[in-house]
Order: sequence, then C-alpha cells, then structure tokens
Amino acid sequence: MIRPDEALRLLLETVHQNAPRRVPLAEAWGLELAEPIRADRDYPPFPRAMMDGYAVRTADAGKVVRVVGEVAAGQNVDTPVRCAECLEIMTGAACPPGTEAVVPKEQVRRSGAEVALPRRVTPGQHIAPQGSECPAGRPALNAGEPITPLAIAVMASFGLKSVLVIPRPSMAVITTGAELISLDEIPDPAKIRDSNGPMLVAMACDMGLGQPRHLHAEDRTDQIAKSLEEVADAEIVLLTGGVSVGTYDLVPQALDHYGAELVFHKVSQKPGKPLLVARKGAQLVFGLPGNPLACHFCFHRYVAAAVRKMEGKRPITDPMLGRLTEPVEPKGGRTYFVAALAQCNPEAEPRWRVRPLPGTSSADVFASARANCYAEVPPGASELPAGEVVRFTWIGSAPWPN
Ligand code: AMP
Ligand code: MG
Repeated sequence: MIRPDEALRLLLETVHQNAPRRVPLAEAWGLELAEPIRADRDYPPFPRAMMDGYAVRTADAGKVVRVVGEVAAGQNVDTPVRCAECLEIMTGAACPPGTEAVVPKEQVRRSGAEVALPRRVTPGQHIAPQGSECPAGRPALNAGEPITPLAIAVMASFGLKSVLVIPRPSMAVITTGAELISLDEIPDPAKIRDSNGPMLVAMACDMGLGQPRHLHAEDRTDQIAKSLEEVADAEIVLLTGGVSVGTYDLVPQALDHYGAELVFHKVSQKPGKPLLVARKGAQLVFGLPGNPLACHFCFHRYVAAAVRKMEGKRPITDPMLGRLTEPVEPKGGRTYFVAALAQCNPEAEPRWRVRPLPGTSSADVFASARANCYAEVPPGASELPAGEVVRFTWIGSAPWPN
C-alpha cells in the first residue's frame, strides 16, 4: 500500500496539461489563458466624459455660457466647444472637439439656454483621455493568467468572441452496485439510494466542468466494461464502488477487460483506502470507493488535483494551518483525513480553528455534511490533543469560513 503523498505524485506524473484550444468567450471563465491579449484600439477609444454635465473651455470658469448642443453616450457630435459656449454632455459620451473640461451638472446654475460655471475649472477635469486606460496594442493579459470575470470584461471590451485556453477535461461518472436505486424509485429494505452519483456530479460542476454524463452498472464485469466502452471518449472516468475485496467488487477485473493499465490501487489513508487509478491511452480512470465520505475525499484530494493539472493550473500546495478544537485519534498506520469545519479566529496564530466532524465510518456523510475542509492527521499511535496544529485543505472552489 502506498502513502497518500506517493499516490498523488504517481497520479500527477501520469497526467498532462491539455493542449490549448480556442473556445467561445462564454466558456473561458475559470480557465488559464494560453495567449497574450492585446488592446485592439485605444481605451477609452475617445476622450470620455466621466460625469453628467457640460463640456466647456477652461477660460470660461466663473462665466455664464450658452448651451449650443447636447452629446449623449454613443453619439458622435462634431459641434466644437467655443469660448462662451458649452454642450451638455452625458457620462460615457465622446467629448466634442475643443472640450477642455467637463463641469458636473451639480456645480452649475442653469437658466434656459445658459449656465453659470463655477469659479474653479481645472483643465482635463472629469475627462478620461483617449488611450489613458489601455493604449492600442498593449498586452492587457498574459498567457498563463487565470480567466476571471474581470478578464472576461477586458476581452469582451476588445471584441474577442473566442480565446485560446487550456481547456477543461471531459468527465463521466459510472456508479456501480446492485443495491443502488435512483431518486425516483422506492427503496425496498435492503436497497439504498445512489448518493455518490449526484455528489460527484455536483463536485464536477463546482470545478466548472459542467454536468458529466452519469451511467449506472450492476455488479457484473461485462456490464461495467460495457459502461466504460460507452464513455470511452471522456478524458476522465470516475467509477464508484466495487474497488475493494468483496466477491462483487469487480471494477479491477472490468478495467482489465477494458484494457486499462493500473497506476496504483490502495492508499494508506482513511477514508479512501481502496482508491484505484488506471489509464487507457489518454484517458484517466478513477476507481473511487463506494463509501460516500471516502468517495468525496478521493475526489477532493485526487480527482481535483488531476483536473487542475490538465487545466494547466498549479497544484494547491500552500498548507493551511489550524488549531484543533477537539482531540483526534489517529488511525494507526494510515494517514487520517478528518472532515472538519475551519473557522477564522483573527486574534490567534494560526488564524484557523479546526473542529473535527468525524462520522461513525467512511460511509457516514451525515456527521460531515457541514465540513468545509479536511484536516490531516499523520499516522501515529497517540491522540492529538485539542490545541494541536494540523494542516488542512479547503473543500471545493472557495473557503466558506462559517
Ligand atoms: P463497495 O465499494 O461497492 O463495496 O461499496 C462500499 C459501500 O458504499 C457499500 O455500503 C455500498 O452500498 C456503498 N455505496 C456504493 N456506491 C454507492 C453510491 N453510489 N451511493 C451511495 N452509497 C454507495
Ligand atoms: Mg458495490
């Protein structure tokens, strides 16, 4: 049995960054940019009024001037601003020729077609000069940078309909188990509802992967192998259940039939000891444990890391540190990843308080349902007392401190 760090290393060694692909701008959010993005023209493309007011000459400060026209946003007005004259102008409008300043509406007194300007009018006030935010040709974003909503705003401003990115992998989920029924069925006493399927679909969505296909196979080698054939085009396949030592744990056998080669099977961790990773060509296959908490943890630690690498993102390596609020019993020779709730305590060092939420077993998601992280308890014999500092990793896309 290999250690969790070794398992992660072996996994990431077999995973490669996806080749760059052009995708529609709307699908690029959350990915890494694979090309530099340059401004197609000056931004702003014209001297832009930054307030609703009047386009004026500075020499007219303190004087009464005549309103000779109006410029709304989006209008091209050629009427020049001459001395003793002004044009009413709206926020976002292109300043007409001769504009030296914009005086906000609130600072003038208007009567009919005349306005009295304030005594102080500074040259250039409330005007964003052409190209002052980003001149034409300047790289505004670099390859390798994350595509955030602000980056999307930049690219939309530049008129980019598509962009070169490191694309997301496609994913499929195959649940296995004769005991499982779907949400639509009524369980007889020995059956349980499939909870791993919906959970894995949600975890994939949380990573921005969209809804993966979800198939179900009974505990038969041929059925599992047939399901694998059906999702042969997915870059990542997640199987759940059937990876331990029971008579009906047929995933390893089915993977053999399918022609996948084993990367590793079994990791000295709790939960998630039966974890299996295999590959067939470019396809990565995870045999996730059937026990729901183990299944969740293995996605959290292993599947997410593989997805990040494929998307060209750096691994999350910065260890978070927190102080246990309660003692935790290690699991002998295995590393124990206990689901926990981390909460911020700004006065303390480290700043996080970590409350373990252990369940009765790796099957128990109920006790851990409010967890926002997994805390790492190294192998060992003696109890970790409350107050001990442990490493932890956030669950999902963002920390939820409460
Ligand atoms: P297995 O690895 O197939 O022996 O499954 C281990 C435990 O997880 C068993 O109690 C299964 O009933 C349960 N299990 C397997 N798959 C699922 C699933 N998709 N949803 C909920 N529980 C599951
Ligand atoms: Mg099973």
